[in-house]
Amino acid sequence: MLSAQQDRLARAGLSAALEAGIAILNAGGPSLDAVEAAVRVLEDDPQFNAGRGSAMTAEGRVECDAAIMDGSNRRAGAVAGVRSTRNPIVLARAVMEQSPHVFLAGSGADAFARAKGIEDADPEWFETPERRRQLDELLANPDAPFDLGMKYGTVGAVARDLSGHVAAATSTGGLTGKKWGRVGDSPLIGAGTYADDRAGAISCTGAGEYFIRLGVAHEIAAITRLLGEDMLAAADGLIAELSSLGGKGGVIVAPAHGISGWAFNTPGMYRGRADSGGMRQVAIYADE
Ligand code: ASP
Repeated sequence: MLSAQQDRLARAGLSAALEAGIAILNAGGPSLDAVEAAVRVLEDDPQFNAGRGSAMTAEGRVECDAAIMDGSNRRAGAVAGVRSTRNPIVLARAVMEQSPHVFLAGSGADAFARAKGIEDADPEWFETPERRRQLDELLANPDAPFDLGMKYGTVGAVARDLSGHVAAATSTGGLTGKKWGRVGDSPLIGAGTYADDRAGAISCTGAGEYFIRLGVAHEIAAITRLLGEDMLAAADGLIAELSSLGGKGGVIVAPAHGISGWAFNTPGMYRGRADSGGMRQVAIYADE
């Protein structure tokens, strides 16, 4: 359960991200700009596990992962283990648009950010007392098995613009106490992030190891495209499969046709949606 203060701040952060995205879409802007803008807001918000406020590694550092994908041409960019770039999602987009590559990792990714003049930040920018406390708690129980079912908080955005193009963006600090350069599903195109105008856009959160094994984001897109299944039904199906393997988490989807939505098997998931008709919804718990 969140405290009243945490609940209020999380909902305010979600609303701010929604407004950043919908303002671009309502002005006729591309879904790619909208998902980047929404994720940037959440990366800068210390309530969420991405950018500032990222979960800490076992060594007490922050190592961020992010990915972005454009459904209109299936171009994609991703980064993993980024330590000094303020907004990893901006860097992921630069990888897509300003390099011949899709995925850069570690110090090389940060070096690419510097070479492209992307804003950097000191370690102190990313670290928050709450994330330090969570790490300390974990390290105080060294014999406890590594818990893939811990609290998540990865951020993601999916959108469809007025031209019908979809895009997805995901950003995370990963799991508290991660080590050995562990990378989750978020920056893996097809696992935690995918977009294809022929199906829709998907962004995932949860125990990344399970999402990688199932290729969740691409599979939701493939089921929608190849079987003609409703994307929300496909998302429900993948979450049911995840549950059957013991995985926990959720997805948000923006179908190429129809209303956006989500599926998750956790007691709650920070989420929100908006449309050009003025609909706004922000929720945390499953029964909202
Ligand atoms: N999916 C992320 C990961 O495994 C964690 C999260 O969703 O918070 O790195």
